[in-house]
Amino acid sequence: MQTTFSLAQLADPNIAEADKILRACVHCGFCTATCPTYVLLGDELDSPRGRIYLIKEMLEQGRPAGEVEVKHLDRCLSCLSCMTTCPSGVHYMHLVDHARDHIERTYERPAADRWLRRLLAAIIPRPNLFRLAMAGGALAKLIGGQYWLPKRLAAIVALARMPAMPRKTDEPGITLALGARRGRVAMLAGCAQPVLRPEINAAAIRLLTRFGIEVVVAEGAGCCGALTHHMGLEEPAMRAAKANIAAWHREIERGGLDAILVTTSGCGTTVKDYGYLFRNDSVWRDRARAVSERALDITEYLARLGLPAVAQARGLRVAYHSACSLQHGQKVIEAPEQLLSQAGFEVLTVPESHLCCGSAGTYNMLQPELSRGLRDRKAANISGLKPDLVATGNIGCMQQLEPAIVVPILHTVELLDWAHGGPKPVALG
Ligand code: SF4
Ligand code: SF4
Repeated sequence: MQTTFSLAQLADPNIAEADKILRACVHCGFCTATCPTYVLLGDELDSPRGRIYLIKEMLEQGRPAGEVEVKHLDRCLSCLSCMTTCPSGVHYMHLVDHARDHIERTYERPAADRWLRRLLAAIIPRPNLFRLAMAGGALAKLIGGQYWLPKRLAAIVALARMPAMPRKTDEPGITLALGARRGRVAMLAGCAQPVLRPEINAAAIRLLTRFGIEVVVAEGAGCCGALTHHMGLEEPAMRAAKANIAAWHREIERGGLDAILVTTSGCGTTVKDYGYLFRNDSVWRDRARAVSERALDITEYLARLGLPAVAQARGLRVAYHSACSLQHGQKVIEAPEQLLSQAGFEVLTVPESHLCCGSAGTYNMLQPELSRGLRDRKAANISGLKPDLVATGNIGCMQQLEPAIVVPILHTVELLDWAHGGPKPVALG
């Protein structure tokens, strides 16, 4: 694609980067067929190619974002399905992240939208606040708040669950390897996941330590910053990323880290991108790169570790839902299914597995109608397989699909821990 940025504009490294990405696009439109919003709405402006044109014109003209750009970019899930499909290697993620930052800096959102975004950005990354908000939402749901509250709030209340009690596994500390130590890793405790399903990291730590891996939850590490980053709120996102980088760097210096493991694939995509986010920052660049180089999804690490064959197959039919952040964002495709199958589960592939379930961070709260459409489509595809349970690698997808599916939904690592000698997952009763 031809671009017309001036030399003065190209002096800004972010514009120079956007220019490079835009030039890689050859307008072929292959990406439209796999874009969930285009599949649902059929509007070119709700396709990757349409959005790329909108971003190009907005940035080239160096003007503030307008209603049209905001409408169609807000509808983008950042699912990155378009990046998997694109034959030209267009890095849509970096382009849309830059455009979102531009929107937040130049566009005055209507007051209700602005406050809702501020509220979500302030609450979700802070586990104690999020726990309180979830409890409040769950109580409001008990008295039918999802039916009588204003539309946007009602959509959020509908998603609320009574939060879990905090667990020791999410607090900073070290869990020693059982037997001879084979490795040492850090694990991201995260922000929303320990409130919603603390069993996930507990299962990961049990499994890792059983196979000789020491696990560190680093003091000072917390939210990865993905949530605010995808809302275009760069300042809190970079602050969260810096806290994690500093915390893990201290652990690298203290005892070495073979890997930094993430059990929420949405967060994993962002932690792997820290090196890029700080590419122009001479103070943080090297440490950010060292973190990104070590970042792995839990299933990637377990596949490298090589788990032994299980003595007894469970004989359960597991529909594996591949989270977008894992399959498109991190290109981790085979490891989860292989691990589950080696652990004795019958793994079923979900039709239209490339399409997003509509969770996408805060998307299900900010775009509830589109999100529900995608959720119901995904739920129908899963239910058609008649599985005994569903496995996935992202807490957002688990929360999103739970109300629409009758069988239990578990994190892949909960099933692996169970198959390799851990307790039966709570979700299986
Ligand atoms: S598939 Fe890639 S090159 Fe083709 S229109 Fe989409 S982004 Fe551009
Ligand atoms: S990230 Fe997903 S929703 Fe956004 S343009 Fe790409 S395929 Fe479409």
